[in-house]
Amino acid sequence: MSISFRKECPRWPFAKTGAFLLPEDLLSRAERTPEVVAVSELHEGRPGGEDSSLGNSRTNFEVSPTAVGDGGLLFAKEPTFAENDTPKKPTIGDFLPPYLEYEATSPYGVKTQAQKSVERMCGSLALVGVTESGKRIAKRICCGREWCEECREQSHNRRVARIIPRLLQIDPMGYIVITFPEEVRPLMRNPKTLADLGKRLRRLLRRRGYRKVYCRWHFYGDKSTKHNPHLNVLCDGDYLLPEQLADLKDAIRRMLLPRSMAQLIDKDLVIHYDFTRDSARKMHWIKYAAKATFLERGWDDQLASMLYGFHNGCFAGTWRDPPKWKLTGTDKKYNALARLGEGRHPESGEPVVWDKKPLPWVLLLMENPVHLGAWWYSLPPTRPPPGGDQCK
Ligand SMILES: [Zn+2]
Repeated sequence: MSISFRKECPRWPFAKTGAFLLPEDLLSRAERTPEVVAVSELHEGRPGGEDSSLGNSRTNFEVSPTAVGDGGLLFAKEPTFAENDTPKKPTIGDFLPPYLEYEATSPYGVKTQAQKSVERMCGSLALVGVTESGKRIAKRICCGREWCEECREQSHNRRVARIIPRLLQIDPMGYIVITFPEEVRPLMRNPKTLADLGKRLRRLLRRRGYRKVYCRWHFYGDKSTKHNPHLNVLCDGDYLLPEQLADLKDAIRRMLLPRSMAQLIDKDLVIHYDFTRDSARKMHWIKYAAKATFLERGWDDQLASMLYGFHNGCFAGTWRDPPKWKLTGTDKKYNALARLGEGRHPESGEPVVWDKKPLPWVLLLMENPVHLGAWWYSLPPTRPPPGGDQCK
């Protein structure tokens, strides 16, 4: 570890244990309790806030403690030896959960899709809202699961609409993609590990002076059905001198992968960095980072269950600046969708007050709704009560 990095990172995260470097806070939190599966509200996250893209449901998932607790906390398994023993050379197996335990995550307590009681089809319910002036908006409820073909496109548009007001404050924009070596990917199946790595990265960038950071995990690559978690980061980055870029990559590698493990497997994180002032390019990155990658539940049913309710897509920093760039061409549609995402009418900007009781979408279809995008619709205003100024 370099002295300069220690200076920059006073809370050195890895406690030295024998020949291993292990993260203190992860060790203390590596309890065998299921906590990740408590699921958030319906798919609508906070306006302009964080984004929950995988599995949203009102109900909590039944998971046995073993199923989640040992899914593979990165670095969390502390190899043990008696106090006076000479530490033996670690192997990758020391970092992996015991084989049987790993297999045991095949979840007894987790219901598979087939076992679950018949659920409503995604998009079959909708909420209706009205503005003070009587304009009505309908919002079809989507499940937001990455593998749901019904709502994938709409969920993606909602996600982009939700993050765009903040990302419009970034110019120039930096884009970092961090890929992990194959050897450690089994350890990255646990959502707690992913959340922790994301948090470490955001903290690191903030400490290095970045004011705005957004990051989101992709679980698969573009051309493969093999688990390949990689972190997409959008930030207020600019041109970096080669030595600055090397220093940034070095700091990220040290923060996200214990050096002992990197040496053991003789591999390290692959980090790609780019920056731009071009609006179209920024928009391309934003849409790319927000896209779903876990396109079929069948690719890894167990992983899908573990990721149920995982809160993907997180912001760090201050986001109170005026917009610094504008959407162009067809991307302008996100201006209206962003207003809808913030709970405002897309034209008038009036706040929409939502009725909490969902209605069957088929009922609302009879009102000839007009699609505004991302499963938001405008409905005709309600008819005035009978007995008003009607003809004789
Ligand atoms: Zn869906």
